[in-house]
Amino acid sequence: MSDTTFAPDRIAAPIPVREVLPWVLFAALALLAIYFVGVEEGATSLINGMYVHEFVHDGRHLLGFPCH
Ligand SMILES: [Zn+2]
Repeated sequence: MSDTTFAPDRIAAPIPVREVLPWVLFAALALLAIYFVGVEEGATSLINGMYVHEFVHDGRHLLGFPCH
C-alpha cells in the first residue's frame, strides 16, 4: 500500500485570453494552410477551379498528401 495521498495544494492558474489568442490565430492559420495544401481538391474544394490546387501542388506532394 502507498502512504502518499493526493492532496493538491496548488490550484492551476487560469490562462488569460490575451496570452492564448496569438496561438489560437496561429493554429487557425496553420489548419487553413494544411487544408488548402492537403484537401482543397474535388469534392472538398471551396474554390472553384484548379487554381489553388495547382498553386500548392508541389507542397502537396512534398508533404505526402495523395493527389493524382
Ligand atoms: Zn499531384
